[in-house]
Amino acid sequence: MKKLLPTSTAGSLPKPVWLAEPETLWSDWKLAGEPLQEAKQDALSLALHQQLQAGLDIVSDGEQSRQHFVTTFIESLEGVDFAQRETVKIRNRYEASVPTVVGPVSRPRSVFVEDAKFLRQQTKQPIKWALPGPMTMIDTLYDAHYQSRDKLAWEFAKILNQEAKELEAAGVDIIQFDEPAFNVFFDEVNDWGIAALERAIEGLKCQTAVHICYGYGIKANTEWKKTLGSEWRQYEEIFPKLQQSKIDIISLECHNSRVPMELLALIRGKKVMVGAIDVATSNIESAEEVAHTLRQALQFVDADKLYPCTNCGMTPLARPVAQAKLNALVAGAEIVRQELLAG
Ligand code: ZN
Repeated sequence: MKKLLPTSTAGSLPKPVWLAEPETLWSDWKLAGEPLQEAKQDALSLALHQQLQAGLDIVSDGEQSRQHFVTTFIESLEGVDFAQRETVKIRNRYEASVPTVVGPVSRPRSVFVEDAKFLRQQTKQPIKWALPGPMTMIDTLYDAHYQSRDKLAWEFAKILNQEAKELEAAGVDIIQFDEPAFNVFFDEVNDWGIAALERAIEGLKCQTAVHICYGYGIKANTEWKKTLGSEWRQYEEIFPKLQQSKIDIISLECHNSRVPMELLALIRGKKVMVGAIDVATSNIESAEEVAHTLRQALQFVDADKLYPCTNCGMTPLARPVAQAKLNALVAGAEIVRQELLAG
């Protein structure tokens, strides 16, 4: 990116009311079959329009064709039985009903490649595409086959690499892996999580990113955040190894979180997507609030490596709220861009 402070979202945007129940996570589709396919494409075009209208520099599909950022990808794989469900504790904090791994996992066909081509046809702006990360995938499943978290993560990493290579060929500029589990299982991140991520990006020439957040603004997460104390230092555990990794960009939650900004010094040299929009509240940030967060990050991130972003996905927000927040992000980035250019 030649432009300073290129703006983007973490990934998801609210879905239109005719596609799925709004302001709800993981809501069911309102259509089925052919009409659903067409509706998803329409929603994708609309999500793109929303981003272009706000003036975002790096755009995405708004995750309009997924119900869930992990399970929608897994649904296309072989070796996972969605009828056989188990209740497990995920992210070490809340119970969820998840599908079961019953045999060797494989990817018989591409999952998001057609959607990516469809988006690519409609814009010349850089495109970012989100995939679940290997550790977060295994943490959203019950494994009755491998019975080893790292072995299963490695198999998923190989599958993600196949998908990523096809997304790159379809014209995706940045491939992002969502790894909220990186904020929970520090020892595993350092033992094999980052290695699995590097397996997932093997051979890619496009830019690669990892998104590590404190989750959507759901109750289980806000309750968890209350237990984390006055300073959230989780990133400190994994940043040294991430700094050494082959990942180009690290996407983080910053605004309204208790993450001490100086932790960003631990990933010096990496590009950083700085979360400057809180997705856990409907209050709209002012442009000046966004600018304030970005200025703080600039103390530890070089200006040419700072990418203003949202803290996490915007799926659960009302659409006008999401639009206003995107406008604030763009306006706040512009304030700081002008300051940088004025020297
Ligand atoms: Zn997130």
